[in-house]
Parts: sequence; C-alpha cells; structure tokens
Amino acid sequence: MAIQRTLSIVKPDATAAGNIGAIVARFEAEGLRICAMKKVHLSLREAEGFYAVHSARPFFGELTTFMSSGPCVLIVLEGEDAILRNREIMGATNPAQAADGTLRKLFARSIGENAVHGSDAPETAATEIAYFFAGTELH
Ligand code: ADP
Ligand code: MG
Repeated sequence: MAIQRTLSIVKPDATAAGNIGAIVARFEAEGLRICAMKKVHLSLREAEGFYAVHSARPFFGELTTFMSSGPCVLIVLEGEDAILRNREIMGATNPAQAADGTLRKLFARSIGENAVHGSDAPETAATEIAYFFAGTELH
C-alpha cells in the first residue's frame, strides 16, 4: 500500500440534492484528506473529454448531457490506498447493487445519475486530476 491521490466528483444529482457536505464529511471521516476542491459547471465538451474512454458506449450521450446539466464538485483525495478506498466508499456503479452504507446506496438515483465518480487506477487518477487541476492547486 502507498499514499495515493484520486479524483472524486460529486455529480450534478448529488450537488443539486444538497449532499455535498455529507459526501465530503464521509471522505474525511474515512481518513481521506482533501487536497483540492472546486465547484464547476462542466460544458458538454469538457464532459465529453473527461469521459472520452466511454465514447463508444451507448450511454455516452446520456452521461455527458447529465454531467453538464448542473454544477459538480471536483475533489482530489489523498490517503493510504486512496483509489481503492474511494471506490469502496462509493459502492457499485448501479445503486441497486451497491452495498449498504456506500455513497451510491445512500445518494444515487440510478445507474446513470449515481452521485459520485472515482478514478479506477493510478494511471487514470493521474490523468483525471490533471484534466481539472494545475499542480499548484493541489495542497
Ligand atoms: P464507475 O463510475 O462506477 O467507474 P463506469 O466507469 O463503468 O462506472 O461508467 C461511468 C459512468 O457512466 C457511471 O458512473 C454512470 O454515471 C454511467 N453509466 C455506466 N453504465 C451506464 C448505463 N448502463 N446506463 C447509463 N449510464 C451508465
Ligand atoms: Mg469508471
């Protein structure tokens, strides 16, 4: 295990529902440190760039329209094994399959509008953090 950084996004559904504070509090309670955080309203182009890996999927249009439908909160988390820890705290992509107590079980509405994003590997974490943050914004 090692100290890692990972990108979390509080998606537009959870931001609109007033769940930013509960989600951030959960990360801190789990021992993940907030390195950087900002609220942004992504353009469709920015959402398409971020999710480019999914561009061939049938849900790409729905996903990028949703992610640009309202503000998100972009968060860089840091901690021991942070990438996997965040994925555990988030729960399964589909909230119907997410374990009790996970953020998606608590806050997600559907497989598409599922409250949070989390990087899935060290390479994607580095790419995703750099997509939204300059090195000087990470503390
Ligand atoms: P995760 O966010 O758990 O890493 P994926 O990387 O597979 O999941 O998918 C990225 C995002 O695309 C999901 O969080 C969800 O918002 C959306 N998505 C995934 N699968 C579907 C689907 N079958 N229908 C609609 N949206 C989906
Ligand atoms: Mg993913």
